[in-house]
Amino acid sequence: MPATPTDLYSLTREELRLLFARWGLSPVHAARLWNYLYLELADSLDTMPELPAKVRDRLAAETRLTPLPIALATDSADGFTRKFLLSLPDGERIETVLMRFTGRVTACVSSQVGCAMGCVFCATGQMGYTRHLTPGEIVAQAVHVARQLRTVGQLAELASRTPAITEAARSATRPTTQPRLRNVVLMGMGEPLHNYDAVMTAVDILRDPNGLALGAGRITLSTVGVVPGILRLAAEKRPLHLAVSLHAATQAERAALVPAAKKWPLDELIAACRTYSEQTGRRIFYEWTLIEGKNDSPTHARAIGELLRGLPAQVNLIPLNPTAGYGGVPTRGEAAKIFQRVLRDEFALPSTVRQRRGIDIAAGCGQLAVAG
Ligand code: SAH
Ligand code: SF4
Repeated sequence: MPATPTDLYSLTREELRLLFARWGLSPVHAARLWNYLYLELADSLDTMPELPAKVRDRLAAETRLTPLPIALATDSADGFTRKFLLSLPDGERIETVLMRFTGRVTACVSSQVGCAMGCVFCATGQMGYTRHLTPGEIVAQAVHVARQLRTVGQLAELASRTPAITEAARSATRPTTQPRLRNVVLMGMGEPLHNYDAVMTAVDILRDPNGLALGAGRITLSTVGVVPGILRLAAEKRPLHLAVSLHAATQAERAALVPAAKKWPLDELIAACRTYSEQTGRRIFYEWTLIEGKNDSPTHARAIGELLRGLPAQVNLIPLNPTAGYGGVPTRGEAAKIFQRVLRDEFALPSTVRQRRGIDIAAGCGQLAVAG
């Protein structure tokens, strides 16, 4: 057995075909294995009866198939969100969130164990950085969520045993239509552009039309603003939605919230965003965590309007979610609405306020962390 067995979830379909070719095995078997992995969502070689024994023996000897065991699963009281604490082969753990709102099912997946960027209000940043995830560990999270959804009954069962479930959630979980993983957001633990190569391999695997088929417009990557990564995405014209976490419209205010801004200053970030939109023709989502008294006034709204003038943009406002290491409070009352009105009326800038879901189980933006 090789020192490190190949993780099957880390291979693109083409890489799997090449591996089988190297072994002198038919591409038909490679295609069958791929279908087992991503259409049938098989979690073990033992549940792949159509693979001949010699193929399975070779796979058992030289590869590994590592579905991530659930260490803990928690459901939000409204039934819309389920958070998983998943174990990695080396004992590290990550969080992955299944979200069922806006009429479709989305997996929020992690790209790292912890995060090196240190944003002051983020639970992942507060825990520090441990390591990058491999492509297979990123793909396995999406497969895990897809597998959870496969049994429609599981959702119905969740609805029936969650007493406080709302009627809306109950009907969303009614087994009338087959729920399918529709979207993946790289907004879990970690900074995806700090782990660029692994994330892009995972994206290629997730997009494969013969697999999970999370193609055009189904994958959104959120970055703290890693300028070289944004420029590389632009040059490579990766088919993703890009979200950039802004939070402040001046360098000084931003650096106080997002330490990574010292390395990639605001003017360089905006220039990179401009290049990205010019080269790809795509609009960028700009995320703005609304913190009362810090960045939620009409003056702040005007500053973001000025900053983004001329750029194809949409602003996603996220009322601050509580985390243990940060004392700020979320915007209250009408402030978010007033903020939106300024963006719309004075700058014709579209914006949304992100639905607050899963806060009771700490599954909201910036709340994902693993106790050390
Ligand atoms: N590292 C990436 C993606 C993960 S964080 C990034 O920073 O963009 C996903 C989003 O949640 C980011 O926009 C982030 O700024 C935001 N976020 C972090 N902590 C938050 C909190 N406590 N409340 C609300 N949003 C938060
Ligand atoms: Fe890392 Fe994003 Fe959290 Fe900042 S907000 S610490 S970049 S995960």
